[in-house]
Amino acid sequence: MEEKKESLNFIEQIIEDDLSTGKHKQIITRFPPEPNGYLHIGHAKSICLNFGLKETFKGKTNLRFDDTNPSKEETEYVESIIEDIKWLGFEYDNLFYASDYFEQLFEWAVMLIKDGKAYVDEQTPEHISEQRTNPTINGIESPFRNRSIEENLKLFLEMKDGKYADGSMVLRAKVDMNSPNMHMRDPVMYRIMKKHHHRTGDKWCIYPMYDYAHGQSDYIEGITHSICTLEFEVHRPLYEWFLEQIDTTGKRPRQIEFARLNLSYTVMSKRKLLELVKNNYVNGWDDPRMPTISGFRRRGYTPDSIRNFADRIGVARRENMIDVGLLEFFIREDLNKKANRVMAILNPLKVIITNYPENKTEQLEAQNNPEDISAGSREVSFSREIYIEQDDFMEEAPNKFFRLKPGGEVRLRYGYFIKCNEIIKDNDGNITELHCTYDPESKGGQSPDGRKVKGTIHWVDSQTCIDAEVRLYDRLFVKENPEDTNENETYLDYLNPDSVRINTAKLEQSLLYAKPMERFQFERKGYFCVDKDSKQDKLIFNRIVTLKDSWTKIAGNE
Ligand code: ATP
Ligand code: MG
Repeated sequence: MEEKKESLNFIEQIIEDDLSTGKHKQIITRFPPEPNGYLHIGHAKSICLNFGLKETFKGKTNLRFDDTNPSKEETEYVESIIEDIKWLGFEYDNLFYASDYFEQLFEWAVMLIKDGKAYVDEQTPEHISEQRTNPTINGIESPFRNRSIEENLKLFLEMKDGKYADGSMVLRAKVDMNSPNMHMRDPVMYRIMKKHHHRTGDKWCIYPMYDYAHGQSDYIEGITHSICTLEFEVHRPLYEWFLEQIDTTGKRPRQIEFARLNLSYTVMSKRKLLELVKNNYVNGWDDPRMPTISGFRRRGYTPDSIRNFADRIGVARRENMIDVGLLEFFIREDLNKKANRVMAILNPLKVIITNYPENKTEQLEAQNNPEDISAGSREVSFSREIYIEQDDFMEEAPNKFFRLKPGGEVRLRYGYFIKCNEIIKDNDGNITELHCTYDPESKGGQSPDGRKVKGTIHWVDSQTCIDAEVRLYDRLFVKENPEDTNENETYLDYLNPDSVRINTAKLEQSLLYAKPMERFQFERKGYFCVDKDSKQDKLIFNRIVTLKDSWTKIAGNE
């Protein structure tokens, strides 16, 4: 028990206290996305947190679409959000929409007017904002602040009935124009927007503001702990003020804030991600370079890797920047166990084994996953012509170069020792082919006479290999924090011009039947995933991550 307590984060601690004092019998959390874009990895953190609490404390979690702003919301986003949550492996207990509560929210607004706690203001938004002045001095009251309850009621009902133009008036809560907290200076509750809503159609032309709708929606659903990011800390007094106006049960949700996730070499606001999509800097929301959940999915990330990442970074009360290398560490760790090894040549160089019979082909046994014996083995074919990686050969090689060089010997993975005897070049001096001999006694890579061959390289048989498009992805931005811009620059100035490179690779034959979303380790090259658009006659692989692993130390030595 003691041990468990020590490992609780501050939110879990609050919940455990609330359960042990009997304040709550069961907790209910919610994940409240606005359906105005696809979810990103920051949302994944919030999802893992909210649904993780449900799992830890045997509670419930609602998915609630915060669809109070019809100008930016679309059904496509609703569907993608549901898909992403399921893919991460979470199940929500209820699916709600803030728009389900429009009627109730409206009635409560009428009640506030009747209590003298809300009024219709006909000033421009600029004027309203000016009158809030600044936190060090008192605000200026609107000339409409003290109009009669009857007049407010009449105007509000007419607002609802569509009698007034967009922006001509708003409903404001009468809180405190002198509060040092600007959010308390008579916040706007309703605005007029003659816009079609994805669910309520044209029924409403007034829509509630986030600050008003959010807490009341939490209350309606019986949310016990309403977890949000730190920027809402200053909104908390208002959240509570709105709840005090309606609550008669004493059972109010408690807002708790935590630091949002910031990830290096990417941007994470939906507005910016939308801009990248709309202006074709990327190929859609699920482009494998995008920090969206659908982007990571298409790239080949597993749900486990993302959940483990979210667990590891935990929850904090202070904002920081998490290195994307940590996320890469978790996908490598997961795929090292799960992904079968195969051989693929990304930049082919032809090798002719001059002493190997012309018409012979043999099958060599190759292990599928040295980390998982149960993965078994497969056969790879070998013949007189093979391909190796261009950079596994060097004509003028330094001493420490243990791969193939003139006169040198190297081991072919699962195959034989080969020795390079001749380099063939075209008229421009480019190497087009190597002529090698093999040692028939070295089958399986065993040295026949104790002579040492240090290097082992991968290869594919030119007779049976298949061509595939391989997309080598890199970071989308060249700057650690692209939002930290110099004068006259935007984050777009830091886009990486080489964020994707496309190669035609030569793959071992076994990959012919690889299905979309299957993942492999290309030996010595990285982890790859079959793209969703891949077809048997046009295979496409996405590089998930390279094999190089600079995070083991950091993650292991913590
Ligand atoms: P963005 O600012 O990226 O556009 P948002 O906060 O407007 O995102 P919402 O749809 O309102 O997006 O967010 C749904 C939930 O996800 C909220 O509870 C929000 O606090 C949380 N969330 C959003 N971004 C992050 C992040 N980077 N890290 C952790 N939680 C986040
Ligand atoms: Mg938001």
